[in-house]
Amino acid sequence: MRNTLYRFMTLGKATDDLATLRTAMMANAFLLISIIAFSIFSYVNLALFSAPLLGVLDGVAAVISTIALIDLHLNRALNRAIYIGSANFFFFFITFAHTNQNSDFGLIWTIFFPIFVITLIGHKKGILLTAVFYAIIFTMAFQGIGNWDEGLWNLRSYLRFCIASLVLTYVVYVYEAALFRSSTELAKTREQEAKYLEELHRLSATDPLTSLYNRRKMDDVIQEHIRQSQRYQSTFSLIMFDIDDFKMINDRYGHNIGDQVLINISDIVKQTFRQTDYSSRWGGEEFLILLPKTSLHEAFHLAEKIRLKIEENNYPNHLQVSCSFGVAEYREGLNETEIVELADNALYAAKRSGKNCVIRDTPIL
Ligand code: GH3
Ligand code: MG
Ligand code: MG
Repeated sequence: MRNTLYRFMTLGKATDDLATLRTAMMANAFLLISIIAFSIFSYVNLALFSAPLLGVLDGVAAVISTIALIDLHLNRALNRAIYIGSANFFFFFITFAHTNQNSDFGLIWTIFFPIFVITLIGHKKGILLTAVFYAIIFTMAFQGIGNWDEGLWNLRSYLRFCIASLVLTYVVYVYEAALFRSSTELAKTREQEAKYLEELHRLSATDPLTSLYNRRKMDDVIQEHIRQSQRYQSTFSLIMFDIDDFKMINDRYGHNIGDQVLINISDIVKQTFRQTDYSSRWGGEEFLILLPKTSLHEAFHLAEKIRLKIEENNYPNHLQVSCSFGVAEYREGLNETEIVELADNALYAAKRSGKNCVIRDTPIL
């Protein structure tokens, strides 16, 4: 029950847009209450007070508010409902003030106009519409001095009405402007937070030196691919490679040159593999690539291709750099550690057979 009412009042609008949610609830509430009030007044004026003109006026306003509310729920066009409501109130209150001439404090009802338009159309457009509204009402009321309310409407009542209306308008305007300001600031903060969060996400997944994925991210990637392979009977392969005699490069040319070599090799990795492949810096000078939907044979050829590129690349100080490679394809039933171990063992075999070569895991058939 509460949920149904909530959905009705909010038009099922998304709860993350708080400003729209609030406008939807208020437009609903205003239109609903105006239908009830206009209907009661229409009945009272027609049946009890024999005031047919006012009765008809209230009736027309009730019908227009009802149309606006039905349209709001059928078409979810929030702005249109608000504009129909505003136009309805605008013409109703002006015609009402003209007819009623403040008998029995009738003018008191006009205070709802600024509240409705400023809160629902927005403080900027709302204040303009209110200015037009009061320009007409105040002029009419001024001309009514000495005549309205059976001659009791005097300059003092006029000024009291004008000042009270203006003060109320000012209060609603300031309230709405402050709310608008704070919600814009909040939206900005949220946007900034979303950016920071995205950056944090990126940083937690990448290696700062090479901007390849780090080991933590790669662990997740491998686990996800094992799950997918089990579910869809697909395969994937791993290429693990390690720079040959890197300690010697560091010792002879310094850490900075070593770092430069790492960056050069990551650039080759980025140029060689596709967007759909996952490249990581697995350890100090060790890289691990995951190739989705790739067989051992295809992965072997790719490894051979990048091995040649690394060997033929130009490095600082005319260094000769090479890498050793181990390649393995996923086998059913293996966990993450076991599949990585297969690639690692193949890499170890490549180191033992003289480095700068690719060795593939030998699946048991
Ligand atoms: P092998 O051919 O058997 O792989 O010999 P290696 O010298 O490459 O292997 P070893 O494991 O003995 O040395 C790895 C070196 O990598 C030691 C370490 O200082 C260096 N290293 C690890 N991370 C970084 C890094 O971020 N920057 C630099 N410049 N060097 C690094
Ligand atoms: Mg090494
Ligand atoms: Mg190593």
